[in-house]
Amino acid sequence: MKACISFVGAGPGAADLITLRGARLLRHADVVIFAGSLVDRALVERYATHATIYDSAGMTLTEVITVIMDSVAAGHAVVRLHTGDPCIYGAIQEQMAALDRLGFSYQVVPGVTSAFAAAAALKQELTLPEVSQTVIFTRMEGRTPVPEREQLHKIAAIGATMVIYLSVGMIEQVVEQLLQGAYTPQTSAAIVCKASWEDEQIIRGSLADLAALVRQAGIERQALIVVGDVLAARKEGLKATSLLYDGSFAHGFRGATDSGANTTA
Ligand code: SAH
Repeated sequence: MKACISFVGAGPGAADLITLRGARLLRHADVVIFAGSLVDRALVERYATHATIYDSAGMTLTEVITVIMDSVAAGHAVVRLHTGDPCIYGAIQEQMAALDRLGFSYQVVPGVTSAFAAAAALKQELTLPEVSQTVIFTRMEGRTPVPEREQLHKIAAIGATMVIYLSVGMIEQVVEQLLQGAYTPQTSAAIVCKASWEDEQIIRGSLADLAALVRQAGIERQALIVVGDVLAARKEGLKATSLLYDGSFAHGFRGATDSGANTTA
């Protein structure tokens, strides 16, 4: 029996940002259940040319699991297609738990999460020497609760680069909580809406004007908030360059050649 179940990351939007493995699984799929609220149906149809396609946007967990079970029983290969990477806000754990209870095996195929598509759109490294060496993926509490110790104002105290999912609709509260942490009204911030889609939209600003800019642009969903001092590097110049490519720094793959300056670990 060729039956197999694959949870696949579709990537952030552009059809050619899915992995080769994900695309191959879609090509061979008999059944695809895709998260239609965020994954473009055109991407699904481009690769899954002979599959029966279900949009999970209007389905419950039980209905999704039933389709998977029935498909496997019929000897069909199933792809459960999620946006970005399935392991970030993908709600796949509950599906895997159900399959575990039923004794079905499955695989998970990673995808490009929208945070990385947003960084690419901004042409921005998220980790810069002497500015921030940490990236936090988080969200504002909405209908899904966030544990007390992870409330936005608490983790904002770190001052690292932050990529905030699922929260653009609450931009005023996000800014308010960030300002209770290590950030100031002058801290650079950006919004990337529909990263890698044809109608991708970028807004750059500071925490002082971000909320107004988002409202002006009418952005309410499918956007990420990126905040942190790394975003100022383009305007203000780099504080330091990396050691990795510095001439005075020898490492396992290269000896030292010159005396580099302005370099940090
Ligand atoms: N698993 C997905 C995230 C799903 S949660 C991933 O790895 O990207 C849905 C949230 O992801 C949206 O509210 C939005 O904040 C973000 N998102 C998804 N696709 C996006 C895109 N192309 N551009 C910007 N944000 C996106």
